[in-house]
Amino acid sequence: MADQSTLQRRGLLFVLSSPSGAGKTTISRMLLTADEQISLSISVTTRSRREGEIDGVDYQFVSAEKFEEMVQKDEFYEWATVFDHRYGTPKAYIRKAMQEGQDFLFDIDWQGAQQLKQKDEQDVVTVFILPPDVAELRKRLESRGQDSQEIIDSRMERAKGEISHWAEYDYVIINDDVDACFVKVREILNAERVKRSRQTGLIPFVRKLTD
Ligand code: 5GP
Repeated sequence: MADQSTLQRRGLLFVLSSPSGAGKTTISRMLLTADEQISLSISVTTRSRREGEIDGVDYQFVSAEKFEEMVQKDEFYEWATVFDHRYGTPKAYIRKAMQEGQDFLFDIDWQGAQQLKQKDEQDVVTVFILPPDVAELRKRLESRGQDSQEIIDSRMERAKGEISHWAEYDYVIINDDVDACFVKVREILNAERVKRSRQTGLIPFVRKLTD
């Protein structure tokens, strides 16, 4: 018997953005654990590896020269400079896997989301996560314990800039409870998957029903 998940469909590019500290990384991890049809798009970056990060898993860490070479060869879907470092999404693998129905999760900022939308409007779904209030945002940034006060202050400033882009997103969620926020993210993803335009297997399926 056919069920929805075995019907052929095009993969989608699911973008989660938020200012640092609004919970995006936690939600991303929960989604990747719970849902086998979505995998993380691994970005290329020129920033140095943080403790605990693995090359090829968290990011592909490259030199500034290598990054520039990839830009020149048009190997990125999109790229941006964030906190003085460069970040980009390599496109070859993603395009191929999408044709086969693989969804990708993007943990990228508003610049990346905008560029992806411009390149590929119909396959991109964007979600913005907002912190419940400023005090909570600061608390979450401080509790990471990884960065100096100066960096935290500059991230707070940057967070305000990022929040100003909320209206460019398809969906906006306030993360006042991480589990509730996660449920909403999954509902969005599941609803987007059954959009008629994405289900390329529907025509032969319906033909069989009616012939
Ligand atoms: P971090 O250095 O803390 O891992 O990431 C810094 C910022 O860069 C985050 O806002 C993250 O979303 C953004 N970022 C990571 N990868 C990419 C990418 O491939 N493209 C764009 N545009 N932004 C990215």
